[in-house]
Amino acid sequence: MPSESPFKIDIPATDLLSYLFPPSQPASDKPIWIDADDTTNSLSPRQLLQWAQRLGLGLQKLGLQKQDVVMVYSQNHIFMPVAYMGISGCGCIFSGCNPAYGVEEVVFQIQNTDCKVILVEPALLSTLMNAASKTNFPKERIFLFSDSKNTPIDEVQDFRSFLPSEKEAESWTWHTLSADESRTTVTALNYSSGTTGLPKGVMISHQNVIANVEQSIYMRDLEQPYSPQNRPQERWLGFLPLYHAYGQLWSIVAAARTGSPCYFMRSFNYLKFLENIQKHRITHIQTAPPVLVMLAKRPETPSYDLSSLQNILCGAAPLSKELQNEVSAKCGLKVVQTWGMTEVTCSCLHVPGGRDDRSGSVGYIDPNATIKLIDDAGNEVGPGERGEIHVKGPNVCLGYWGNEEATKETFDSEGFLKTGDVAVRDEEGWHWIVDRKKELIKVKGFQVAPAELEALLLEHEHVADAAVCALQLEHEEHPRAYVSLKSQHKDSSSESSIESWVSERVAKHKQLTGGVVFIEEVPKSPSGKIQRKVLRDWAKKDAEGW
Ligand code: AMP
Repeated sequence: MPSESPFKIDIPATDLLSYLFPPSQPASDKPIWIDADDTTNSLSPRQLLQWAQRLGLGLQKLGLQKQDVVMVYSQNHIFMPVAYMGISGCGCIFSGCNPAYGVEEVVFQIQNTDCKVILVEPALLSTLMNAASKTNFPKERIFLFSDSKNTPIDEVQDFRSFLPSEKEAESWTWHTLSADESRTTVTALNYSSGTTGLPKGVMISHQNVIANVEQSIYMRDLEQPYSPQNRPQERWLGFLPLYHAYGQLWSIVAAARTGSPCYFMRSFNYLKFLENIQKHRITHIQTAPPVLVMLAKRPETPSYDLSSLQNILCGAAPLSKELQNEVSAKCGLKVVQTWGMTEVTCSCLHVPGGRDDRSGSVGYIDPNATIKLIDDAGNEVGPGERGEIHVKGPNVCLGYWGNEEATKETFDSEGFLKTGDVAVRDEEGWHWIVDRKKELIKVKGFQVAPAELEALLLEHEHVADAAVCALQLEHEEHPRAYVSLKSQHKDSSSESSIESWVSERVAKHKQLTGGVVFIEEVPKSPSGKIQRKVLRDWAKKDAEGW
């Protein structure tokens, strides 16, 4: 029998803006999105709403239709929540593009989303213009986007140029949704390779976001000595990238929902991160294991006053209980784990926020969700046995954008999402992640799709075939390529030249830091599929001798 969450909650069935800004309650004037480098640069919910209304109406006036995609290519800044809400408010879809991406990666996202407008941070304009020219994307649909007004660059205007006045936008009502529409209307397209293949746009509905924020906050507040009403004042640090579901959920939507001030960092830098915790007396952070590795191991950590920190929520990649406990002890706080993936909006298993868990568990199933654990033979397993997580719930995505085949393959016959992660559950409903059976590699919490690197390697003129998998070294995964060369290039090619060739073409986290190995032939099944298990065994052996 599938295991249902022991918790049930009411989830508002409406659109995102009506959820966060109910007409009966005036939006607050308290600053919530604050620039960590300059605290005078901030937005309150009331200001955010004004800007979001102007952006929503402005996009409508540009002729955008419901469910058109707007791509946002930028680092974090306090206007990112404006983009997220404004795009959602006019019935369009927000798709964040990783600011570390180079031209080809941006080309892929422009084409795959079929976006109609692009908002770009000025520093990324030249990369974007290269990508735009390769895709024939019209220049007049590209706008500079940052937290202060920009003068035009090469005739590209600031996004404020198409916004109506505050007064005009005030009387504009955003696109409200019925309960059914909130389940079927997409608000975000976040990219994930899922269990196989290339990155795909995950369709996240209004209801998905609302549900996952409600579920996450419920789990966070569980077993705490306070209720949401009298929650002591918190201060969060917004360094998770906002093109990713994890950043959107906490730094944008949950911050608005709980009224928690969130200090935005443009990008992650460890010393800046420590300095910001100390300077702004940060109480809560949401993060991934690589940051915990730094907290535990970097020599600079003890030089900063981190005593304000009470709780670290950690997800996005495997975290060993040894590291979890080391950070808890060193920093005198709770580290609570969560498990999730882009396809479940953000997360679906949580350790209650009040628990001081030392077992490395990822906790209970979120409210209103159901999980089955399925073994390799397709049978459901019981407590103590390993099985792939299959999940159903109000936070589970609608499928992949423009890719019905991948959508079909991702859901089982009972409508559960197949996650590719393997877990064990105990009698009390606690879960531990024990393996990943999908192709995905996670580098510093970011996705690397082997299929993407394999396709790129095949473009190299010396390469006959290639297969990529993770080399696991200590707490980190490193993409490693097994490459067979064309016979005429066997003597003229080197591993390092192929490694550098790839580095020039992909974002930093996708580089082949696990090395390149030349092999005679890529192991394949009779149907031509790469035998990933063989690769994993090779990489395991290789890691022993590293
Ligand atoms: P993403 O879609 O980028 O959020 O990546 C989701 C994947 O990250 C999951 O399918 C897991 O493989 C991995 N992941 C997320 N949270 C955890 C966790 N707590 N422990 C182990 N792996 C995790």
